[in-house]
Amino acid sequence: MLKERTCPVCQLASSALFAESTVDPNKLDEYAYASRKMPEYMHHRLMNCLSCDLVYASPVPDDFELAKAYEEAGFDSQELAIRAAATYARIIRQHIRKLPDRRCAIDIGTGEGAFLRQLLGLGFQEVFGVEPSRAPVESASPEIRKLIKQAMFDEKLFAPRSATLVTCFQTIEHVPDPLQLCRHAFQTLIPGGMICLVGHNRRSLSARMLGKKSPIFDLEHLQLFSRTSLETLLKTSGFIQIEIKPFWNAYPLAYWAKLFPVPRRLKPIVLDALKRTRIGELPIALPAGNLIAVGVRP
Ligand SMILES: [Zn+2]
Repeated sequence: MLKERTCPVCQLASSALFAESTVDPNKLDEYAYASRKMPEYMHHRLMNCLSCDLVYASPVPDDFELAKAYEEAGFDSQELAIRAAATYARIIRQHIRKLPDRRCAIDIGTGEGAFLRQLLGLGFQEVFGVEPSRAPVESASPEIRKLIKQAMFDEKLFAPRSATLVTCFQTIEHVPDPLQLCRHAFQTLIPGGMICLVGHNRRSLSARMLGKKSPIFDLEHLQLFSRTSLETLLKTSGFIQIEIKPFWNAYPLAYWAKLFPVPRRLKPIVLDALKRTRIGELPIALPAGNLIAVGVRP
C-alpha cells in the first residue's frame, strides 16, 4: 500500500513536483533497500518542499511494508562500512570535545556495528547500536553483536536522558519519519548531549552536476536534505548550537566507479578492469556531497 505524505520535516503541504516516479515493479529486489548498493535509477515520486527545501518521496510504501523491507534487506558491504566508520570517527572528533562526559553513545542505523568499535575507541564507556535489518546484525562479531538492538530506533528502547551522544550516519534519508527520529533522540539525550547526523547534500556540486541522474535519487531515500532542511529538522526537534558542514569521503576507486552514472552495459566492464588491475583498491577522497549536522540538547 502506498500512502501520500506532507513534508516530513516541517509538515507543511506547500510543495511542488520535483520528479515523477520511475519505479519499475519488475526490477524490485531485496537489494533495493540495502545501503551502498549498485544504483538502479529508480525512485518514488519526489516532491520539493517550498518551505524547508527538503525533497521527499510521496506516496511511499506504508510503515509496515517499509519495516518488513528493511528487516529483510540484503547486505554486502562490510569493508566499505569499516572505511566509512573511520571517516565518521575522524570528523566527529572535534565536535565531541564539547560533550560533558563520555558515558553513553547510541548509533542509529549501525549496520554490522563498525562505528561502535570507533565509539569505544573514542572513549565512550557504554555503547549501543540500533539496526532494523537482520543480515548485518547477524554478521557482526559476537562482542559487537551483543551491543546491537535489532529494531527501528524508538525512544522506548532507551531510558530518557541516558545518552551523551546519538549518531545517525546515512540513515536519516531512509526512515519514514525523520522528525520523530530526532525528537526521540532528543528525549534520549542528557542536557548538553549531542546529536550527530550525516546525510547526502542534494544541493552539493556533484548532485547539481548530475541532476536527476544523481544516485542520491533512489528508491531507498524517502527524503533528501540540504543545509536548510537539515537545520529546520534539528531546530524543530529542539536542538540548539546547530552546525552544518560538508566533508570528504575516502572510498576505493571501484566504489566511486560503481556510483558513477555510466551506462549499465559498460559498468560491469569498468568494474572488472578496476578489479583486475588493483587500481580499484586505491583509496580516493572526493567531495561526495555529504553533510554533517550536529545539535545540542539544551
Ligand atoms: Zn518542509
